[in-house]
Amino acid sequence: MPTLPKKKVGLISCSGEEFPEGTLARMATLRVLENLRRNETVTLCLPLFLAGNDKERAFARFYPTIAIDGCDKRCAARATEKYSATPTASIVIPEFLAAKNLKPPRSRRRLDTDGEIAADALAQEISARVDDILGKRQEADGRDTTAQESESIVASCSCGSGVPVIRLNITGKSVELVALPLLFQQWRAENKAVEELFDAVKIYNAIPAAQEDEYRAAILNAYADYTS
Ligand code: SF4
Repeated sequence: MPTLPKKKVGLISCSGEEFPEGTLARMATLRVLENLRRNETVTLCLPLFLAGNDKERAFARFYPTIAIDGCDKRCAARATEKYSATPTASIVIPEFLAAKNLKPPRSRRRLDTDGEIAADALAQEISARVDDILGKRQEADGRDTTAQESESIVASCSCGSGVPVIRLNITGKSVELVALPLLFQQWRAENKAVEELFDAVKIYNAIPAAQEDEYRAAILNAYADYTS
């Protein structure tokens, strides 16, 4: 049976250099990544997203994401939605500051006292969203009670995104099929029609038109093994 990777949340901060709120977005995101939820989060680079980086897009297609934007142009949220998938959660900093009655930093180069307070509050908000997404609960003594998912990955996509793959032998060649373990798991958990599985596989993998029959047979055989 394929082993799924540990689920993490991807944080996508806007790269705004023009506004102090852009700096605030990056600083708060960094606090979550490095301190508050370092084992539960990864960062996804917005410029790489826009440049068409497969690794960033593949991750965001399969794992939950939080977009953190410095203004209502929502560059991070819109880019994620356009190139990959709708973010699971979205934070727009002016709205967040207004809701919390906090002041924005005055400088875009470094955080002043108001900026530090806002960055701490924003980092806590991002962490709370991460916990919600992962279904995590902290007991009163602080112990993490989240059900432990496997850390191991049987095979990861060669693009380095961490998206699991299965390799099948098709027409005499070893072929890497992205996300097949996740699709198998979803199909079995939701008892979905097996006839639709191949269509889902084609969304994430380029299947040569001339070899569709061989690919379909190999994939459905592998699914039968998985569910037996
Ligand atoms: S969301 Fe606003 S601050 Fe962030 S990159 Fe876009 S325009 Fe700049």
